[in-house]
Amino acid sequence: MRGGGHNAPGVAVREGGLMIDLAGMRSVRVDPARRTARAEGGATWADFDRETQAFGLATTGGAISHTGIGGLTLGGGLGWLAGRYGLVCDNLLSADLVTADGTVLIVSPTENAELFWGLRGGGGNFGVVTSFEYQLHLVGPVLGGPALYPFAKAKEALILYRDFAASIPDEVNTLGALLNSPDGDPGAAIAVCYNGSLDAGERVLRDIRAFGPPLADDIAPTPYCKIQTLFDEAFARGRRYYFKSNFTRRISDDAIDTLIEHFRAAPSRQSIVYFQQLGNAANRVDPTATAFSHRDALCEWGCDAVWLDPAADGENIRWARELAEAMRPFTTGSDYVNHIGLETEEGTDRIRAAYGANYDRLAALKNKYDPTNLFRHNQNIKPTA
Ligand SMILES: Cc1cc2nc3c(=O)[nH]c(=O)nc-3n(C[C@H](O)[C@H](O)[C@H](O)COP(=O)(O)OP(=O)(O)OC[C@H]3O[C@@H](n4cnc5c(N)ncnc54)[C@H](O)[C@@H]3O)c2cc1C
Repeated sequence: MRGGGHNAPGVAVREGGLMIDLAGMRSVRVDPARRTARAEGGATWADFDRETQAFGLATTGGAISHTGIGGLTLGGGLGWLAGRYGLVCDNLLSADLVTADGTVLIVSPTENAELFWGLRGGGGNFGVVTSFEYQLHLVGPVLGGPALYPFAKAKEALILYRDFAASIPDEVNTLGALLNSPDGDPGAAIAVCYNGSLDAGERVLRDIRAFGPPLADDIAPTPYCKIQTLFDEAFARGRRYYFKSNFTRRISDDAIDTLIEHFRAAPSRQSIVYFQQLGNAANRVDPTATAFSHRDALCEWGCDAVWLDPAADGENIRWARELAEAMRPFTTGSDYVNHIGLETEEGTDRIRAAYGANYDRLAALKNKYDPTNLFRHNQNIKPTA
């Protein structure tokens, strides 16, 4: 199944297989009185945010506007508003789903409730979601954007990021990264989104803006839709991508040193390494309340190898794999379902770890809704029957 086509391991595409492409199903309908929106399964966050922000509303969504709502929601969904409203899947109210045998189901807390639990973090294992219904919230403008620091201060900047992320109010969520400027100069960045009173936000973000001082400080009152497109260009379609990531509960000095050392050796200037915070409200949900179990993680760390020349595939993929292995001791050992590759690459143990304690309950759902594993080129839950 293909939603927005963003899955970096490429699970939506199968050599010699049939792909159910939802790209033609992108409508979004907002009910401003109920503060809800129903969006078709192939919509992107750009589609969704455009329609909901027309009413001053939004829900947590991915940080790049051309990502699909489909895969991102089903895997959990980290985003800027998660400090206050939880993950994307925490805002899902219901879904329409077509099962492997062609049955059309309404899936909600009151209808097919166990499947509703599984859709919130269990990935695209159980059927084709033709539409998602979300809870919306009043949002914007927000105080957000990146501050950029010199690479010579990368370690101090990431320590500041770590301490800041661990002590913020619900209104904020954060990203910390090592990246290269368009001119090819390496640097460290802290990007924030404060979703609340702008005056209060100025006070909360003071330390981020004072540190350094930054080479550039683009933190400003900004429409939410613009925050959602801040990093779109860095992930333009048509480039070559290979991602690795893991959840982490705390960011140690050694982890920071490891990232800096490996980032220096990256074969491509387009590649980045980052921390994306889960968010306070996302952390408060019980790990078994939804299929997304990694509620105790402070953030996801990741390396996004990005390059242009197919001849450089080998060295860039090797770089990401080596960095992921070097970082593994500093992580929970669990991958994010939305970034994990197929079982042939990752192995059975990593697949199970990506679902944590919820794997067996998800496998039982797979037995019930897709016992022949018709949907098998996806987030890897196998029927046990
Ligand atoms: C540049 C970039 C930025 C990202 N940023 C974030 C971020 O901020 N937060 C975050 O949490 N993740 C992020 N991700 C990861 C993202 O969640 C996954 O890539 C996700 O799989 C994308 O969903 P998609 O629908 O676009 O993908 P697709 O490749 O279209 O689909 C991936 C899989 O999801 C399932 N799926 C998709 N749509 C449906 C549907 N309607 N019904 C049933 N199954 C479906 C299928 O199994 C499908 O194979 C990012 C990825 C990229 C490449």
